[in-house]
Amino acid sequence: MKENKIIFLDRDGVINRDPGEFVPCSYVTSWKEFFFLPGSIESIQRLDQAGYGIIVISNQAGVSKGCYTEEQLNEINENMLSTLKQHGASILKAYYCIHQSKDNCGCRKPKTGLFERAEQELGIRSRGAFFIGDGKMDVEAGHAFGLKTILLLSGKTSKDDVQAWRIKPDLIRNDLQGAVDYVLRNPRPRTP
Ligand SMILES: [Mg+2]
Repeated sequence: MKENKIIFLDRDGVINRDPGEFVPCSYVTSWKEFFFLPGSIESIQRLDQAGYGIIVISNQAGVSKGCYTEEQLNEINENMLSTLKQHGASILKAYYCIHQSKDNCGCRKPKTGLFERAEQELGIRSRGAFFIGDGKMDVEAGHAFGLKTILLLSGKTSKDDVQAWRIKPDLIRNDLQGAVDYVLRNPRPRTP
């Protein structure tokens, strides 16, 4: 697989609606709380058709907080993957960290453990690839792993929030459609 044909996506706020404070625990705890954002399925389909290997990297600390179980997370994941696949939008694999900051694991973004695992398991080299997320930890993790970060405003972050961040995203777009438009027009990211 070619190095520049890998793309990483965060899940909540990118593919599906970030649950924010509207549900108990502020996590997607079951499939019925999972809502695809407008245009996200089509955007992933376009990446798939363009030959991208798509990998999801997501923090789901709600599991270790007891908001939902790992089985529920798996069920949500399987439903998401199969729905996407039905629409010609295949994900290579989704990786989840279920720990909290206090667990001091190596996989919770902004740490890069899940990216490393993806590289090893899938036999890919991802340096310079895009990582599309909606949060500060996404930008920090992507930056730390040598990825080109695109911050979306379709989740938990506003443009004003970014001003206070030490590590800034390479690009900001309103939603996944906007980011994919950019990626497909600029397949080889320029290094700054
Ligand atoms: Mg997110």
